[in-house]
Amino acid sequence: MAGIYFHVPFCKQRCIYCDFFSSVTVRLKDSYVDSMCQELSKRQNYLEGQKIGTIYFGGGTPSLLSPSDFEKIFDALSVFSFQPDMEITLEANPDDLSETYLDALRMLPFNRISLGVQSFHDRELQFLRRRHDAAAAVRAVKRCQQKGFGNISIDLMYGLPPQTLPSWKQSIEQALALDVPHISAYHLTYEEGTPLMRLMQKKRWQAQPEETSLAMFEHLIHRLSDTGYEHYEISNFARAGYQSRHNSAYWNGTPYLGIGASAHSFDGKSRQWNMKSLDYSNQSVQREILSETDRYNDFIITRLRTMRGIDLQEMQRLFGAEQVQRCLQQAQSQITNHFLEHTDHHLRLTQQGIFISDSILLELISIQDGVA
Ligand code: SF4
Repeated sequence: MAGIYFHVPFCKQRCIYCDFFSSVTVRLKDSYVDSMCQELSKRQNYLEGQKIGTIYFGGGTPSLLSPSDFEKIFDALSVFSFQPDMEITLEANPDDLSETYLDALRMLPFNRISLGVQSFHDRELQFLRRRHDAAAAVRAVKRCQQKGFGNISIDLMYGLPPQTLPSWKQSIEQALALDVPHISAYHLTYEEGTPLMRLMQKKRWQAQPEETSLAMFEHLIHRLSDTGYEHYEISNFARAGYQSRHNSAYWNGTPYLGIGASAHSFDGKSRQWNMKSLDYSNQSVQREILSETDRYNDFIITRLRTMRGIDLQEMQRLFGAEQVQRCLQQAQSQITNHFLEHTDHHLRLTQQGIFISDSILLELISIQDGVA
């Protein structure tokens, strides 16, 4: 199985924290859609005939594309062969999901909607410079459900400077009340060059203390686990059968083709990426052949993010028995301290380990010198 990702780099306005590649002018949208269609044709052999199991439109704001843009893209996709039960996701801004737009989406092959909600508090949304308010987010989810989209994901953010533990708890309760089968929750990150970073440097706002962020994360995990969501990846929670198949494929090392500006592709041996430009199709594709060390580090980073953890038998098949022994030695102190557990040929984060996953990952990939 393989996946296809489309990057749609248009936004009506820039969120304060965002460092993704996107443009606030849609003047070049039509030619950009044409470029993506041509790229599909040019790169139809990239996945070596593997059947496509997942398609994901991310951004940017893919819900700024019109139904006829999507028709063109789905037509251009016909050069690939597909699995019968594909997952096809559209990332959407709540403000874009009008009745008419959703009716049109229902006529297209989409079967999953991922909504960038971030918070159910207007003050927090204004801080983030999101263009929707909390009421619009609630309306959008309900409208998707009324139109028959059962597979809905909501993105939330925590650790926001104006957020409090009670306001975070309320956002989670509102998400639960909407009864969506998938919730992703990310801690706010401070990226160089963003307006948020400048505000912080001017000391207009202060970052949340680490204990508050941890308390927010802890509450998230307990509350969602108590209400039947499986915590299947550090930032992702799903009811049975609703894990994101596209993202899970990334974490399992499945090949994917990335179409559009700044989109990355992976074929198991190398990574490729397009330039960050609306005119990307006239610029060269960058390529990096992965060394064994790169592949090993990718293996550790992607697998350990998931609650299934690292399959040591798979590691042995890919990197040899000696490497498994080295990895286990490296992990020993974290196993002793109950941050990692080693059971059933798997090495995985424990509940406590999830909170320090970044430092555990760093420790495990630091053995890279030992990989040929
Ligand atoms: S909508 Fe998404 S891509 Fe666009 S600015 Fe906001 S966070 Fe960035």
